[in-house]
Amino acid sequence: MSTETHKTNAEKLTEIDALYSTIPSFKCKPGCADCCGPIHYSRLEFYRCVKASGRSLQQVRDQIQKDVSNNDYRCPFLNRKTNQCSVYAVRPAICRIFGTTGELRCPHGYAPERMLSEESSRAILAQVKELGA
Ligand code: SF4
Ligand code: SF4
Repeated sequence: MSTETHKTNAEKLTEIDALYSTIPSFKCKPGCADCCGPIHYSRLEFYRCVKASGRSLQQVRDQIQKDVSNNDYRCPFLNRKTNQCSVYAVRPAICRIFGTTGELRCPHGYAPERMLSEESSRAILAQVKELGA
């Protein structure tokens, strides 16, 4: 059983944000969105992205359905016109971790100065998964 049930969603998101802050950041290849999906979000991360996108849950679901019928499996928060993340400030853990650890290397060779160990990145993802479940 989860040990997180006594926490409010706001408290869980605050803890998720604290975990995000431990992930090293780096500059990507300009205009690149090659790692934008399909990706895995925890439930709380997904709903926060929906809210930040300015669309309703139904609108996002409708887009996913339409995209899948067009064999487009990219993230629904990727702006198809600009090729940029529409929810960058609240993007989920997996988006932040991609490129920062040996088992999720950027295919274009972009990386932070300090890489996360695989153990650390897995621990962060596991904690976010539990908090955001
Ligand atoms: S991590 Fe690499 S693949 Fe992903 S957006 Fe940045 S440059 Fe592109
Ligand atoms: S949330 Fe943003 S960064 Fe993450 S996969 Fe979607 S578009 Fe890319």
